[in-house]
Amino acid sequence: MKKRICILYTGGTIGMVPTKRGYAPQPGGLAKYLNMIPDLTSADAPDWELVEMDPLLDSSDITVREWRAIGQEIFDLYDRFDGFVVLHGTDTMAYTASALSFMLENLAKPVVLTGSQIPLCRIRSDGRDNLITSLLIAADGRAAEVCLYFGGKLLRGNRAVKTSADGLQAFSSPNYPPLALAGVNIRYDTAALVRPAVTGPLTLAPMHTVPIAVLKVFPGIQFQLFESIVTEKLQGIVLEAFGAGNIPNSDGALLPLIEKAWRSGTVLTVCSQCTYGEVSLGAYAASSSLKAAGAVSGRDMTTEAAVAKLYYLFSKGLSPAQVKAAMEQNLRGELS
Ligand code: ASP
Repeated sequence: MKKRICILYTGGTIGMVPTKRGYAPQPGGLAKYLNMIPDLTSADAPDWELVEMDPLLDSSDITVREWRAIGQEIFDLYDRFDGFVVLHGTDTMAYTASALSFMLENLAKPVVLTGSQIPLCRIRSDGRDNLITSLLIAADGRAAEVCLYFGGKLLRGNRAVKTSADGLQAFSSPNYPPLALAGVNIRYDTAALVRPAVTGPLTLAPMHTVPIAVLKVFPGIQFQLFESIVTEKLQGIVLEAFGAGNIPNSDGALLPLIEKAWRSGTVLTVCSQCTYGEVSLGAYAASSSLKAAGAVSGRDMTTEAAVAKLYYLFSKGLSPAQVKAAMEQNLRGELS
């Protein structure tokens, strides 16, 4: 029996058409181009159904509300399909993939996010291979997690980052091996696919807009300027530090700020500005005081995953101490 896959179109370049203001998604526009791809009706392709989100968005406009809507759609259609392909703009695809990986608790079917750099309506579109291969991966079933397929590589969704603005291999997962490589055959890395056991039926965790901030340190940063935003209203901060988690502190301005944040219940997670490797608080004197002041190490998590994880944990109503503890735990393969 043929597998049934739901293609969920959220917007993004893959289905965009030229307009007077540049490329934009158009309701009903994608179906026409899908009907022009013979592979999609081949005997080797799974059966599929297209569901369009409303509104269709450039992914720079995707918010927590859309994460909720996508999650709800997958939850509602879960029993009718063997897997899901989420067509999404590339700009924030790694954030949405991270968010869905946390929201879809006890997921036991593939959810593959993909898109393209060149729209399907244009010659040389990379959308055709990205879509067809994603459909085959979703039908195969081995990658029963939220993943991202792009330019020949299947990546864990919450490990992926967009690393090229115009290359057709636009994503990588620097701190985790690809789950599969699509050459002549699709070769899965079975060791990389190992996932925590599913303990019950699929549940959809709540996801709310939580007041959080991402702060990237740079030489000469004046931490005093941020003092006014660090209040009990700010629930989380992702601090992108240098290297293994180091911060400039020769003027002594950052640590009082971090202490103030922790006292007011703000969970500060330290990620690295480096693409590869992990944060190790305490490896250098420049970082040990961060830990003492109440910061938590994001280890080798991407900023995208750390942002989505903060939203997820606070949306569950956890206390700052519980969120702090969970940020360092591996929940969905997002950290080593
Ligand atoms: N701006 C587009 C988006 O993220 C880019 C793309 O889809 O590649 O929606």
